[in-house]
Amino acid sequence: MALITETSLRAQLAKGIPNPYPVTAEDKLTPAAEDFLKSRGIRLNRKADDSPPIRLDWSKSAIPNIPVGVSNRHVHLSEEHVELLFGSGYRLTPWRELSQKGQFAAEETVTLAGPKGVIGNVRILGPSRGSSQVEVSRTDGFTLGVHPPLRLSGQLEDTPGIALIGPKQAIMLKQGLIVAKNHVHLSPEEASRLQVEQGDGLIVQTLGERPVIFADVVARIHEHFSLDLHLDTDEANAAQLRTGDVVRLIGKNGCITEALRG
Ligand SMILES: [Zn+2]
Repeated sequence: MALITETSLRAQLAKGIPNPYPVTAEDKLTPAAEDFLKSRGIRLNRKADDSPPIRLDWSKSAIPNIPVGVSNRHVHLSEEHVELLFGSGYRLTPWRELSQKGQFAAEETVTLAGPKGVIGNVRILGPSRGSSQVEVSRTDGFTLGVHPPLRLSGQLEDTPGIALIGPKQAIMLKQGLIVAKNHVHLSPEEASRLQVEQGDGLIVQTLGERPVIFADVVARIHEHFSLDLHLDTDEANAAQLRTGDVVRLIGKNGCITEALRG
């Protein structure tokens, strides 16, 4: 830790004071030194690497549990693609409600066809969306012979396409095949209770026989969401998790809280 005074700053004036002015998290500035920088329009740049571990205000008995939802391979379709695959004017038939409000698994399924192989009975999730998106596991990618990148839902730039076979006809998607990046859905209330912000990289630890830490799970907050960790089947199988199991939230943005170390 360094104590930064006005005198020490004045001594640096001759060779120039960088803007922003780099300091570590432990460095202390005297009020006069802060005024000195402020009056010259110089901002502080606290280096994140040196910041102390975050302290989330969880007591040991109350490390938050997050329920797990395992997502099997599935397809989201635009209305246009629903009609091409199933016939004009066709609407999806809700079969089962999903954990997130308004989302449903449809009765309808399609077949995915890649250069190496096909996967049948792939569930369509509704309601229909602006653009079609196909979420598979890395293992599915080997079956299909396509290796899609890891992406958050909706981020489809530079993703490969895939052929979809429906009862009426087959279509070739130009893009939209992804391996879904793991994420946690939270309502705004749950986010504030867990001290989580939009886009935080959460660290969760699985319990049980084969404990696994997922080190960068994206927090997605929306008023229609409710607390649920979404993993694909490869991740769930590796950690021996099933839908309805729980994991522990043990930190965020690269820092594990002291809650679990103790
Ligand atoms: Zn999700």
